[in-house]
Amino acid sequence: MSPGDTMAPEIDRELCMGCGDCVAVCPVGALTLENGHAVMAHAEDCQYCGDCEELCPYGAIARAFEIVLLDNEDS
Ligand code: SF4
Ligand code: SF4
Repeated sequence: MSPGDTMAPEIDRELCMGCGDCVAVCPVGALTLENGHAVMAHAEDCQYCGDCEELCPYGAIARAFEIVLLDNEDS
């Protein structure tokens, strides 16, 4: 990652159909619609919750990383 990059989800403009679902679901208003496509307007506010990624019917928005919590009880 370069300085200034965030871990906010990336939006594939080719796949985005501009339905606005991700904009509506984002709890912190990080996303907005611009010229018929979702854009990350406030990446600094993103909580990395993944709601937008799960909701998008076109697979157009995805986090670069997924945080997985492991149960280490047996290790
Ligand atoms: S939910 Fe997916 S298709 Fe709809 S605006 Fe967001 S990124 Fe685009
Ligand atoms: S990961 Fe969560 S906080 Fe970040 S843009 Fe998507 S819905 Fe909003």
